[in-house]
Amino acid sequence: MTVTSKRILVTGGAGFLGSHLCEALLERGHDVLCVDNYFTGRRANVAHLLDNPNFEVMRHDVTFPLYAEVDEIYNLACPASPVHYQHDPVQTTKTSVHGAINMLGLAKRLRARILQASTSEVYGDPEVHPQTEDYWGNVNPIGFRSCYDEGKRCAETLFFDYHRQHALRIKVARIFNTYGPRMHPDDGRVVSNFIMQALAGAPITIYGEGNQTRSFCFVSDMVDGLIRLMNTPDDFTGPVNIGNPVEMTIRELAEKIVAMTGSKSSLVFKPLPHDDPVQRRPDISLAKRALGWEPKIALDQGLEATVAYFARLRGEMAGQNRDATARGVS
Ligand code: NAD
Ligand code: UDP
Repeated sequence: MTVTSKRILVTGGAGFLGSHLCEALLERGHDVLCVDNYFTGRRANVAHLLDNPNFEVMRHDVTFPLYAEVDEIYNLACPASPVHYQHDPVQTTKTSVHGAINMLGLAKRLRARILQASTSEVYGDPEVHPQTEDYWGNVNPIGFRSCYDEGKRCAETLFFDYHRQHALRIKVARIFNTYGPRMHPDDGRVVSNFIMQALAGAPITIYGEGNQTRSFCFVSDMVDGLIRLMNTPDDFTGPVNIGNPVEMTIRELAEKIVAMTGSKSSLVFKPLPHDDPVQRRPDISLAKRALGWEPKIALDQGLEATVAYFARLRGEMAGQNRDATARGVS
């Protein structure tokens, strides 16, 4: 198969999903420009790509205009964990909305294809289950999660208005909970929290009674879905759900991670955060039909790879602390 090499911009490219996407695009022979302001991303996530002559990194905040020459844009820039996106909610909305306007403006000038990393959060606390793309959602417009949920909903609106008004070639992916190596150990998301707690033998913090459900997709499946979506014919815009439909309660996830790590951690129950969705599972019929995509990595396999990653990270962090102590740095 011959691959036509493209110049591809990935915003949020130094983040968890973005770094895996940059890697996968380079493997396919493309030139990749990674743009990130390092709010939640880390240079370490892309350090192993820096020697690749087809890879370039630019520190830039997408709330400001960007001038670059590319053929395709994956717009991932936005903090994704509730702890991070609620830290500076005004900046979160700006990132989603001004960021979308700036990237859409760039795509319009270049006539480039552009993909938006939207989210299952556009369905809010869903009353339709599993969630299909034609469901309009149940979102609180003035709550603690609204900066993210409404920001992402407005970004979808902008994408579709640029498509209708300027004939822009758009793709909108509604990403459901994704996990895997390079998640930030302190970002507060459930998979990273539970694994870090289990490895440390610390109590596993279940919010509420743990009966709320989520469906977890491994990162390599997600990246494959995003690339397939970008490469669909021009008349396919989405929105399309990309996620793993295997649903479980948060308590079941905690028990699974404790068993998998052989941890002695106990389960402790903490207050449920505001507007925490009660249930979430993607209907992926459209992704199967339009992208020929479905997840391949079972939860146990994906969790094992993620546990191995965090175990290695803990070892490195302990080594750094020992070195600092030896140098007399407190
Ligand atoms: P992440 O926090 O690891 O990555 C986001 C990246 O965007 C980081 O590198 C961060 O520094 C960068 N960023 C934030 N604000 C920026 C700005 N103003 N300018 C430039 N860069 C900025 O999160 P992730 O899990 O990799 O998520 C990536 C995208 O996927 C996000 O848009 C998120 O909303 C979406 N998404 C992720 C999930 C998930 O479960 N991981 C679920 C739904 C949607
Ligand atoms: N959660 C939990 N303990 C934690 C972190 C999260 O019980 O230490 C719960 C959280 O309340 C939510 C689910 O796990 O119901 C998923 O949370 P996450 O922040 O990963 O993503 P969300 O799907 O809520 O955006």
